[in-house]
Formats: sequence, structure tokens, C-alpha cells
Amino acid sequence: MRLQDKVAIITGAGRGIGQATAVKFVKEGAKVVVCDLTPESVEETLALCKETRGEAMGYAADVRDIKSLKDMVDATLAKWGRVDCLVNNAGIVADAQLKNMTEDQFDNVIGINLKGVFNCTKAVVDTMLAQQSGVILNSSSIVGLYGNFGQTNYAASKFGVIGMVKTWARELGRKGIRANAVCPGFIATSILGSIPEKVLNALEEKVPMGRLGRPEEIANTFAFLASDEASYINGAVIEVSGGLVI
Ligand code: NAP
Repeated sequence: MRLQDKVAIITGAGRGIGQATAVKFVKEGAKVVVCDLTPESVEETLALCKETRGEAMGYAADVRDIKSLKDMVDATLAKWGRVDCLVNNAGIVADAQLKNMTEDQFDNVIGINLKGVFNCTKAVVDTMLAQQSGVILNSSSIVGLYGNFGQTNYAASKFGVIGMVKTWARELGRKGIRANAVCPGFIATSILGSIPEKVLNALEEKVPMGRLGRPEEIANTFAFLASDEASYINGAVIEVSGGLVI
């Protein structure tokens, strides 16, 4: 198994891509901390992890709350003694064209998608530095490379994630820590819920593979990047979009 005995914290693991990633990681032998905002979602993912006989613990935390993130890392260290991988996956959308976007919409998305990534990484970095090893994986988006209509806030957050990843790759590479970003295209999860069906169908048409992605297809990418097979991949920004933007 690719991730045998590696300890991974996954944020936004209560549903969607994060849930699929948690399940994939335990199947690959990892010990997983399922972090999500909603305790019920944490329990749902834990149940799925346990179905695979994987080792997992749950932690309900808001990525905006530095104190609870530190407590989560302490709980992880108390149980398993190390943190090998952090998957910064929690994210939201609050779309509007610039002229209609409120300051709250901007601040909420930046607070979770960008500052939340900073908060979680700060919470684990000292542990990884002490270990002289670790992998920091991050959900950006193709919107973080190309922008998107109605997503000023989301694009800013996802471009920002890539900027932090490249900075961490430079700062931490010599310390045995790798940082990478994954840029999903359109993946069938509840985050697409606000997109009208007609628009979704048109988007599907634009994908050379003719379909939306599945959460498991992003989870597989994270699993590879977390594994020792990706030992020389650092500062990479990997599109997983079915070729949407070629
Ligand atoms: P999703 O199904 O909406 O899941 C998002 C998860 O993040 C939920 O479990 C949610 O928890 C959690 N979350 C939200 N705010 C949080 C907070 N403050 N603290 C902790 N957890 C929080 O979305 P997804 O499609 O799986 O997206 C996962 C990541 O991939 C996001 O960063 C997203 O931007 C990125 N992405 C997705 C797509 C796509 O097409 N699906 C494309 C590109 C990038 P609750 O359920 O408790 O609210």
C-alpha cells in the first residue's frame, strides 16, 4: 500500500473531494484525521473509513479557528506521534459578478479558502520541521490559473493558494517537506450545486473527455502526491480537469 502508516490530516473531509480522499488514504494504509466543520459530516466519513477497516479519527474544526487547529494537531500527535501529510481541501464558493459581490462574500471566501490554508499549514509546519519530513497538498482550481466569470473572490483565493505553495516549496524543500497544488476542473460534488443544469451541461460539452470529473479522480492524485512515489515533486501545480483548458 502506497501510504502505509503515514499520518494524514484532511480538511473539508466531510463530503465531496475531501471525503473521497479520506477513504482513498485509509485504503492505501494511511492513518487519517477527518477534519470538517460539521460533526455529522465527520461521522459520515469516519463510518466510510471504518468500512474499509482503515484507521481514522474525527475532528470537527473550522479552518478559520487557529486554536482548534492547534488542538487538532496536538490530538493527532497524542494518538499517532507524527503528521506526514496535510491535505488543505476545505473550500467554499460565494459567486457574484464584481459589481454585485459584497465585502462579506469576498471576506468569507478568502477567510476559508486562503487564510484557512495558511492557518492549517501553520498548525502543522513545526511538527514537519521537527520530523524533517512532510507533504503539504492543496486544493487550488483551474479557476486559480485562468480566473472565471463571477468568481473574483474564489479566483483570488485559488491563485493565492498557488502562490503560497510555490513559496513553501522554496522555503521548506531543503527541510524534507514538499508542497504541491492540485487544480481540479469541474468535479461532481455539492460545490457545483449553485450552477444551473443548462450551464453544467454546456461545461461538460467543453471537456475533451465529455464528462465532469469524479471526486475519486482528485483523491487518486492526492494519494500519489502524498506517497514516496512523488518524492521529487515539489512546487508543482497539477491540473486534473479532463483537458478542459487545453
Ligand atoms: P464540497 O463538496 O462543498 O466540500 C467542501 C468541504 O469543505 C465540506 O465538507 C465543508 O464542510 C468543508 N468546509 C467548508 N468550510 C469549512 C471550514 N470553514 N472549515 C472546515 N471545513 C469547511 O466541495 P468539493 O467540491 O469537495 O471541494 C473541495 C475543494 O476542492 C475545495 O477547496 C474546492 O474549492 C476545490 N475544488 C473543487 C472543484 C469542483 O468542481 N468540485 C473544482 C476545483 C476546486 P461542511 O459540509 O461541514 O460545510
